Amino acid sequence: MDSRLFSEHVPLKNVEIDDVFWNTRQELVRTQVIPYQYEALHDRIDGAEKSYSVSNFIKASEIVKKISAGCDVPVYPADRWHYSEKDSDEQAFLGWVFQDSDVYKWIEAVGYSLTGHPDKDLQQKAEAVIQLVCDSQLENGYLDTLYVINDRSKIFSNLKDYHELYCFGHLTEAAISFYNATGKRELLDAACRFADLICDTFGEDKIRGYPGHEIAEMALVKLYDITLKNQYLDTARFFINERGKKPYYYDKVLGKTTVEDNYHYNQAHCEPRYQHEAVGHAVRGVYLYSGMADIAKRYKDDELYFACRKLIDNIINQKMYINGGIGSTVHGEAFSYNYDLPNDLAYSETCASVGLIFFARRMLEISPDPDVADTVERALYNTVLSGMSEDGKSFFYVNPLEVLPEASHNDERKKHVKPIRQKWFGCACCPPNIARLISSIGEYCYTQNDTAIFIHQFIGGRMSSDKGQLTINSDYLSSGRISVLVSPKKDFTLAVRIPAWCDEYTFSHKCEINNGYAYFKIDAETLIDIQFKLKIRMIKCSNRVRANIGKIAVTRGPLVYCLEEADNGNNLQMLSIDRHTDFSFDGQYILADGFREKDCATLYESWREAEKERVKLKFIPYYRWANRGENEMSVYIRIE
Ligand SMILES: [Zn+2]
Repeated sequence: MDSRLFSEHVPLKNVEIDDVFWNTRQELVRTQVIPYQYEALHDRIDGAEKSYSVSNFIKASEIVKKISAGCDVPVYPADRWHYSEKDSDEQAFLGWVFQDSDVYKWIEAVGYSLTGHPDKDLQQKAEAVIQLVCDSQLENGYLDTLYVINDRSKIFSNLKDYHELYCFGHLTEAAISFYNATGKRELLDAACRFADLICDTFGEDKIRGYPGHEIAEMALVKLYDITLKNQYLDTARFFINERGKKPYYYDKVLGKTTVEDNYHYNQAHCEPRYQHEAVGHAVRGVYLYSGMADIAKRYKDDELYFACRKLIDNIINQKMYINGGIGSTVHGEAFSYNYDLPNDLAYSETCASVGLIFFARRMLEISPDPDVADTVERALYNTVLSGMSEDGKSFFYVNPLEVLPEASHNDERKKHVKPIRQKWFGCACCPPNIARLISSIGEYCYTQNDTAIFIHQFIGGRMSSDKGQLTINSDYLSSGRISVLVSPKKDFTLAVRIPAWCDEYTFSHKCEINNGYAYFKIDAETLIDIQFKLKIRMIKCSNRVRANIGKIAVTRGPLVYCLEEADNGNNLQMLSIDRHTDFSFDGQYILADGFREKDCATLYESWREAEKERVKLKFIPYYRWANRGENEMSVYIRIE
């Protein structure tokens, strides 16, 4: 890797978002999602599955109080993934083993939201929750409500399955977000105490374990960045280097011979530096790869970077849906084999696309790369946005590219594919992940180094740094027009990404185009006008993807479009698009000429040309689907 290309993302406090499209989404997160999630964490939403998140912290804080008072405390089993009211004592831990992380993701989103929008009431609510979290920490720094409540003797005994290090990672991210927003360090101090315990516990001559669900790696790097304590960076590197070494740590501890998949599910089948294909649970995968990229950069580890490069290339070129969804199989919520991208069986978890954005940004911080920046855009404007309803009150966990509600209701193989967004999930990883990404979107727009500022995403607002200020007016999604007012404090280079979808663009000022970026020399105040021509395009998929042979998808700029039953009638599979169609765009919808085959009730008959009639096809942006009740949806359509 070439360290001259390194850059850092710009901290959220230096980026102000002011953008017609994104203001609405951030307001939704602030006014709908965050308050709704607060209620959900407290189990106060009628009809939604209980979270137990806050009640577990209340129980844990009481246990900690009793322990410090020298009282005896009960012991309950800590031996499974999920604890229901039916099979658990009233005083024991309830819900999924990773339930604490929902509280942390909420605090993290609150921190980002407060950065751009101070709100006394919200801050006070968060501080009360933080107090509860801090009160649940054991004296030695340990903090995970499952083990604090149920059985302290089992702490760190099953790293593969029980998520203590995962919850630690989210605790740390929350603590940093809240500290950056408010300067309050109670939660940061708690995270550091837990991190210190983890550093004392794991290492070369200590326990040689590593997280079953990754995230601690990138969280420890963030904690290093803010505290400059080397042990955090060293432990993150240890977790990555130790992972997948043979004999497997999990085998040794759990007393088993290797499981059937050799820990591919946990990306622990071999050492990460030798992993060149994305496998296993997709969210875990991209969280690990994010940590790998962090460590590769900070230690200038070329071999690890080479693995990251291979992994992101594999995802982008063989394992990613057109909407930026990844992890195509429900079995293990996992990456499947190359080019296995079924539309109707897709798993494509919202969190996986959020994690892909984390990974991609870290890769951009190592080297500017238009394909990687394009991947951020693809995942963000399609899968991530689709994960939340237009009123911010319901969410998708799974993001299919084709839906037949009848199949979702009646076919076991498609039970995971929901035709409408759900209010809340017992396993509610996705909604808070969307909230934290959208409220921190400013951190994904720019990176900078000593000589240059890079604009990777075209979101309106202001960005300030030691080099000066950028004021961006963006009409990116509607007209492709963007203006950048550069007010420099010193000379620098401004690099502007040219989106991969755009083959016709103009810049008002002279620039040098190199590897997908336009480079401008800035030595005085400059107003750069950019026009990316937004064409409606028909996109074909590789013929290695069996599901999409003879079909196309319609896109405009970064947005993927889809057909819905509400606009086009049912049996969307009977529709086809005319290859010679003129598209029209009315500001929201795309209209095209197509055909509808006549319904054919005979199951088998001699082949003959299908009878069909001409119809107008109406496409809506994919992220807006399922906002009008249950109905059929399809991204791909046959072309004639
Ligand atoms: Zn999720």
